[in-house]
Amino acid sequence: MTNTKKIAVIPGDGIGKEVVAEGLKVLGALREHRGLDVEVVEFDLGADRFLADGTTFPEEVRNTIRDECAAVLLGAMGDPRVPRNEHAKEIIFGLRFGFDLYCNIRPVVCLHDRLMPLKGRTAQDCNFVVFRENTEGIYVGMGGQFKRGTPDEVAINEDLNTRKGVERIVRAAFEYAVAHGRRRVHVVDKSNAMQAAHELWRRCFFEVAAEYPGIESAHQYVDAFCFNMIRDPSQFDVVVTSNLFGDIVTDLGASLQGGLGMAASANVRPDGVGMFEPVHGSAPDIAGQGKANPLATVLTIGMMATHLGVAGIEDELTGIIRDAVEAGECTADVGGSRSTSEVGDFVVSRIRSRG
Ligand code: ATP
Repeated sequence: MTNTKKIAVIPGDGIGKEVVAEGLKVLGALREHRGLDVEVVEFDLGADRFLADGTTFPEEVRNTIRDECAAVLLGAMGDPRVPRNEHAKEIIFGLRFGFDLYCNIRPVVCLHDRLMPLKGRTAQDCNFVVFRENTEGIYVGMGGQFKRGTPDEVAINEDLNTRKGVERIVRAAFEYAVAHGRRRVHVVDKSNAMQAAHELWRRCFFEVAAEYPGIESAHQYVDAFCFNMIRDPSQFDVVVTSNLFGDIVTDLGASLQGGLGMAASANVRPDGVGMFEPVHGSAPDIAGQGKANPLATVLTIGMMATHLGVAGIEDELTGIIRDAVEAGECTADVGGSRSTSEVGDFVVSRIRSRG
């Protein structure tokens, strides 16, 4: 009986294809030199396929992932040729909602002093993890437009929050804090303005917090949180928030990490398949030019290895990325002059040379 784990790979659009190509080199090196027992199954999904034959996220791909794969590695989705990006929505939401991947874990960690944009701060001051609710909120698509294009036009999007949905992400954040020796969990909401929906968040958070007396619990409104992320990010350890706020605050977080090319994410639930993707999108402005930073994807692969139960790889890749930034073996967005594939080659060479 083999323990080989199948990884579904969906490079997607724009720079997604470029960074995943480097990710696959890194996975190959980990397989060869670290015994990471994985088999890659690549799926051709994204704008090119959609424009060619209308395919978005077919049933057979969904079933293969559900029945055979331990994880999905996704590059990025989005293409200006598909104005409403319907293919992207079907694929990303097909994975997040379809597999009920309710924890979107986004580390906001600055890996090198050189990447820290805040005056008087070092990389050590920015080391927290955002737990973004991933299956509810504004993203459920409830709402619509009425009298569109007239002076009486009405547009509504509902923000859906359930007790079950809020409680399970809050609990996941506390469980993570316990498992990783983090001392404090913050809930970030807007309960002063969204008095129904976010009162639920706040109440549920402090009820769950009472079950974790060893972990400090705290609340911040999302506006104050953004202010404090810049003023003093060192106060944060683990942060739990809604789907929309999680999306927004982690882009701000990426700016503390050296940019979107350095921000990784995992979409998981405690059991079953997990989906791993860099935080950035398809970046059409730089696609096809060898400028995309693949390090967020390398970090994402580290998170995937941890999810697969393989210890050590995430820390090793993090160390190699620090070295890449230190040595200038990185793309221009983080101060280097290397191309996407040269950075991938550097990571692979480090894995090889460490034996
Ligand atoms: P989305 O709507 O999917 O978030 P977007 O185009 O609005 O996509 P991103 O693609 O995430 O946003 O990126 C915004 C900009 O940041 C890009 O246009 C690009 O200039 C830069 N960027 C993003 N990712 C990277 C990367 N990996 N390497 C270098 N620059 C990047």
